[in-house]
Amino acid sequence: MTPFAYDRAPSLAAAVASRARHRSDGVWDAGADFFAGGTDLVQLMRESLRNPDRVVDITALPGLDQIEDRGSSVRLGALVRMSDAASHTLVRDHYPVVTEALLASASAQVRNLATLGGNLLQRTRCGYFRDPGSPCNKREPGSGCPAIQGQNRFHAIFGGSEHCIATYAGDLANALAALDATVTIAGPQGERAILVTELHRPPGATPAVETQLAPGELITAIDVPADRRGWRSHYLKIRDRASFEWSIASAAVALDLDGGVVRDVRIAVGGVATTPWRLPQVEAALRGRRLTPELARGATALAAEGAVPHGRNLYKVELIRRTVARALEEIGGLA
Ligand code: SF4
Repeated sequence: MTPFAYDRAPSLAAAVASRARHRSDGVWDAGADFFAGGTDLVQLMRESLRNPDRVVDITALPGLDQIEDRGSSVRLGALVRMSDAASHTLVRDHYPVVTEALLASASAQVRNLATLGGNLLQRTRCGYFRDPGSPCNKREPGSGCPAIQGQNRFHAIFGGSEHCIATYAGDLANALAALDATVTIAGPQGERAILVTELHRPPGATPAVETQLAPGELITAIDVPADRRGWRSHYLKIRDRASFEWSIASAAVALDLDGGVVRDVRIAVGGVATTPWRLPQVEAALRGRRLTPELARGATALAAEGAVPHGRNLYKVELIRRTVARALEEIGGLA
């Protein structure tokens, strides 16, 4: 690990001021990194994949470790630990998709340490990205993407580019995407809120730029709309082993049923795309119709529309259809 300086930010303003160094193309420079749970950052630093010259500890920032009912939303502070959010009554009782996504993530030990904000920003698990000896456009812009012709069993069938096909690794963001949740971001220009679905950027020609966060910005809170409380919701994660594993496909479904008719629905999938990925074509096929096994089968057959497989990940085309179908059947009482 490369030696680094350690600062503990006493306030949000100090934290923002401490980390405004990006290269002119928007790529994070080696400068300072924020530290909260550290579960991903420390791993990246140990493997010399991130070499910040300063780590700014934000765990003492006041007010960011609370979960509160704000009337129009439930607000989850960015420093809330994953395990605390999963078991909180406001989350567990009203947004089961969030609790299920959190409990399907990592291990109990990691969930006790990792924060919600950090979890949203976790880096990809692409093996080439995690291998300092491999070229990788995300880690070293312009060095190439060996995954496109190489070991791509775990890679994306949605949202990729000729420069990168790495999947977004998280679960929580998919659940939040299905609830139309927003993230509040603090930065040098003040505060702003964006949808969770807008937070992550598809790789395009600049895979190293992974989110919409501008220099110095950090996530302070997540707001889940209160009007989703009456909806059924469910997270289904498919993975190679039952615990402590990233998904090869996952589906977050939020369903507003009115006497068996789909009044509204949101579906977001993970493990198959470069960002949390909504399926508007499946939602449109379901909306306003009576939920039956036939409707579920017909609608979820559209789940792989637009998929671009790359050889070893061809299996994900059928897998994502079946994952979405099963999640919908389970939540709709059809299973
Ligand atoms: Fe790097 Fe993306 Fe290619 Fe993986 S898929 S090697 S992260 S550029």
